[in-house]
Amino acid sequence: MLVVGNWKMHGDWGSNAQRLQALHQQWVAQPSVTLAVCVPSPYLGQAQQALQHGVVAWGAQDVSAHAGGAYTGEVSAAMLADFGTRYVLVGHSERRQYHGETSEHVAAKAQAALHAGITPIVCVGESLAQRQAQQTEAVVLSQLGAVLEALGEQALAMVLAYEPIWSIGTGQTATAEQAQAVHAVLRTRLRQHGAATVPLLYGGSVNPSNVAGLLAQPDINGALVGGASLKADDFLAIGQAALSAAAL
Ligand code: PEP
Repeated sequence: MLVVGNWKMHGDWGSNAQRLQALHQQWVAQPSVTLAVCVPSPYLGQAQQALQHGVVAWGAQDVSAHAGGAYTGEVSAAMLADFGTRYVLVGHSERRQYHGETSEHVAAKAQAALHAGITPIVCVGESLAQRQAQQTEAVVLSQLGAVLEALGEQALAMVLAYEPIWSIGTGQTATAEQAQAVHAVLRTRLRQHGAATVPLLYGGSVNPSNVAGLLAQPDINGALVGGASLKADDFLAIGQAALSAAAL
């Protein structure tokens, strides 16, 4: 199981320090569950300092597809690696929506991350209109397909997160059955690619009350958590629920 917090563009030095300290002090090493937080890039050094002697991993929320050069404002995978970054989100729906990232662009970012030894957490998911038009499967398979094509065998080293856009930050979690149905489709596609072992996370309004039902599903291997990861107690409770689910 893998539980990843996405802090988005929240926090400051003081509040980060408290949250990181709580995670560092209260999360005990567990072979069955990895806990990680994806922080805003300027705070990667702070996360590294706070977490480096513990078991909570840290990651970034985006990476450039380019290795270096005249790309003002971008941050390369090698730069992230300099701060001990283990994970990076790529293709979060907010990046696709507000920054026009295409699936091909997302695939190039995943490639750049892997090249630097960082695990990309590739996010896929449909909008409400697409779900209502029965396009969910086609949308997520197309998003995943672009990444599989670019990564080839390297796809085995990625993590995949299913995040229905209508569920992100809305409090409207997909039911465990809805999530499992999409995860099963994604698993089948990964299996065809020889990558059935890729961890599949669910994301979208996950909280301590609804996480157990989601993690009990056979094809859900963890959670990507936005809002609830900003409260250390809630995030730790989600980690504990993952421990219980892993023990079943
Ligand atoms: C996210 O942004 O990745 C996310 C899942 O957010 P939330 O948990 O707040 O819906």
